[in-house]
Amino acid sequence: MNQPINLCPCGQDILGQRLSYAECCHRFHQGDLPSHPELLMRSRYSAFVLRRHDYLIATHHPDFLNGLTRAILDSDNQTRWHGLQIINAKKNGQTGLVTFQAWYLENGKLDAIHEVSQFKWVNGKWLYTEGQQFSAILPKRNEPCLCHSGKKFKQCCIALAN
Ligand SMILES: [Zn+2]
Ligand SMILES: [Zn+2]
Repeated sequence: MNQPINLCPCGQDILGQRLSYAECCHRFHQGDLPSHPELLMRSRYSAFVLRRHDYLIATHHPDFLNGLTRAILDSDNQTRWHGLQIINAKKNGQTGLVTFQAWYLENGKLDAIHEVSQFKWVNGKWLYTEGQQFSAILPKRNEPCLCHSGKKFKQCCIALAN
């Protein structure tokens, strides 16, 4: 990531001002419970970036882990995360849906996990269950860049697209 270490990896901002990690996802990694599936999604993305793999396992519904372990996550040293776009997030009673693109670089080129993730409220906390994945969709030239630089895509990471 091309950004100062103190900014939150999830890219959250208030009126264009990026939040620091201390102001944003840090508290969830320390044990605060996200009140909305979007906050859980953001904190899970930040945990991927910061390699807080314990947090990823703890916030993944155990019935949906399918053998995923912290050791498996620890063994991935390849993924270079590049930015998170939350496209849509809603909660409805004890379920939540978050559509997002989690951008990363592979061989110097941008690609994304584009997913509609499902979340469930279980015993007082939100947990990730499973998701449906789609092809990545790059921003349009004049849209904000996916890396949270605040620049337009055409003035920023477009060179990393094909
Ligand atoms: Zn954050
Ligand atoms: Zn960019």
